Amino acid sequence: MSLRRKPNPNRNHPLFCPYCAGEVLFPNEETEFAWLCADCTRVFEVKYHGQDDPVTRPAAAKSTSQALKESLARHGHQLPEGGDTQQ
Ligand SMILES: [Zn+2]
Repeated sequence: MSLRRKPNPNRNHPLFCPYCAGEVLFPNEETEFAWLCADCTRVFEVKYHGQDDPVTRPAAAKSTSQALKESLARHGHQLPEGGDTQQ
């Protein structure tokens, strides 16, 4: 797992208490990530660590001209010899 950034307490804050589903939440001084639920008085922490690396990475995207050449060839068209799609 490689994360691009450290977890940030100002991102992805909870909208509901995970224990009672209460919606009245306040930041709590316990930690930077702590929240106090006004309904059940629980203090909990939600921390978004980031995204894990994918199992397999998708192939790199083709350039526009390469994709156009392949598309034209697939449909039976051919660019003129040495044909470049850019002008
Ligand atoms: Zn609650």
